[in-house]
Parts: sequence; structure tokens; C-alpha cells
Amino acid sequence: MPNPMPTITLNNGVQLPQLGFGVFQVPDDETTAAVSAALGAGYRSIDTAAVYGNERGTGRAIAESGIARDELFVTTKLWNSEQGDPTPAAFDASLEKLGLDYVDLYLIHWPSPARDLYLKTWEAFEKLYADGRVRAIGVSNFLPEHLQRIIDLGGTVPAVNQIELHPALQQRTITEFAGAHGIAIEAWSPLAQGAVLSEPAITTIAARVGRTAAQVVLRWHLQQGRIVIPKSVTPSRIAENFDVLDFTLTDADLAGIDALERDGRTGPHPAEFNR
Ligand code: NDP
Repeated sequence: MPNPMPTITLNNGVQLPQLGFGVFQVPDDETTAAVSAALGAGYRSIDTAAVYGNERGTGRAIAESGIARDELFVTTKLWNSEQGDPTPAAFDASLEKLGLDYVDLYLIHWPSPARDLYLKTWEAFEKLYADGRVRAIGVSNFLPEHLQRIIDLGGTVPAVNQIELHPALQQRTITEFAGAHGIAIEAWSPLAQGAVLSEPAITTIAARVGRTAAQVVLRWHLQQGRIVIPKSVTPSRIAENFDVLDFTLTDADLAGIDALERDGRTGPHPAEFNR
């Protein structure tokens, strides 16, 4: 019997599989094969976004899989230019491309502070949630100051904040803030797009436990309670990244990886990203 996938219970009671599959930078016509490989390997949570241009390819793999809809957890994201008035139509377009009648998690992709529309967008998200078209609503790339403004609206607290997080950028301030407010942290670029995989602190542990560096990094995330969504288009890596449920890192291993923090951001800074 394979080990069961651990889940994180979101602040509205919905369960999100802790390990999912991301499809950033996968062309639409290659996405069906990648997502099919992931579903075949056992992943049940898929993370896409309108701006990735591959919701159709993702939806095709879901339809072809024959897996019951309620066994899957599908996340997509609202692009920045669709914040505010265009949000409901953008959501409808995502659903149509995915070929679904609801999504499990809908995220505001970036705060895009110069637009100053994320509060209005959040109210549109609350309406989608109230109408039963999404099982949970959340945000991505939000700093504590952005989260605080949403909380101050007095309505729904975001279920998730999906942020860049890996050994070189551990985001302790945001994680602490989110923890204090019941917001789950989901790590994007959990492998730092491969940049941390040759770190001696990681490869030494990998050699000792007989696993790959990627598996050690994913295990480090899981043991700290984070949701992770590694991406790969390579079937062997897709399977490797999923095969992390049957070993445990020691506290010393975790601390050794924690020591790799160096503010090593690979993506844009949310305070400045207004595209
Ligand atoms: P990841 O940290 O998941 O790294 C992906 C890269 O690592 C790819 O180049 C992949 O290569 C390689 N890789 C994957 N597995 C292994 C392995 N076992 N060994 C060696 N190399 C490996 O980066 P992403 O940026 O893709 O982040 C993951 C997901 O997070 C995205 O797909 C997306 O869903 C989400 N995301 C969200 C963002 C947001 O703003 N909300 C921003 C960025 C990402 P290959 O594919 O060639 O096998």
C-alpha cells in the first residue's frame, strides 16, 4: 500500500493535498501529456493559471483521465489585468477552458499594488465563493500589508497564500503572519527551479538517505507543513517528485536546509510587480 497523501485543512474546512503538480511555462500543447503523466503517477492536485495559457491542455488531461472530479483538486489564478470589474468574466473564461463547472481554489495571482484593485477583486472572489463556483478562495504573492488590508475588510480570510518559497528564500515573515491568521502557505518554485539542487547541504543528506536532492527538498517542505507544487515535464522527475511520502528527514537535516536562507529570490518582488 502506498502511503496516503497528507492533506492540509484550509480555514473553511476544505482539504488540499499537500503535494501537487504545477504547469508554469509548459506550452498548452505539451500540458496534456505532462498533467496526464502526473495524474498517472498519483498526483491529484494541479496548479495552473490563466496567464500560463494552458488551462485548456490541463482540462483535456483531466477529462481524459476518467478520475472522478471530486478526487481532484484544481487551482487556477486570475491574471492582473482582469482584477476589478473584469473578474467574473475572467473566471467564466477559465472554467470554460478547463472544461469544469467549478474550481477547487481560485487565487488572485499578484497583488499588483499600483492598480489598487485587489480589495475590489477580493469582493468578486467572495461572490464566486458564495455562489458555490469555487470551493476556496485565496491569493498569491501577497505581502503581510496586502493580506492585512483584505483581513480588515472583515469578510472572508484568504484560505491560501501561494508564494515563492524554497531553501534559498524561506519567507519567514510572511509565513508567520499567515500562520497567525489561519492562512495556509503554498510554495511556488519549491525547487527554486533547480537552483538549490547542487547545494552540498542538500546533496549530503540525499546521499545519506538514498534519495535525490529534489526529493530531499520536497520532504523539507512537507515536514514543515507547507503545500508544494513542483513542476516537471519529464516523466521520470514527475514520478520522482511524487515519491516522497515514505522517508523522514531528521531535525538536524531540516535545520541544515534552513541554514541555506539567503534572500535568494528568483521571481519578481510582489511590491514592485505591476505588470
Ligand atoms: P520548480 O521549483 O517546481 O522547478 C521546476 C524546474 O525544476 C523545471 O526546470 C524542472 O525541469 C526542474 N525539475 C523538476 N523536478 C526535478 C527533479 N526531480 N530533478 C531535477 N530537476 C527537476 O519551479 P516552478 O517555477 O515551475 O514552480 C512550480 C509551480 O509553482 C509552477 O509550475 C506553478 O504552478 C507555480 N508557480 C506560481 C507562481 C505564482 O506567481 N503564483 C510563480 C511561479 C510558479 P523539467 O520540467 O525540464 O523536468
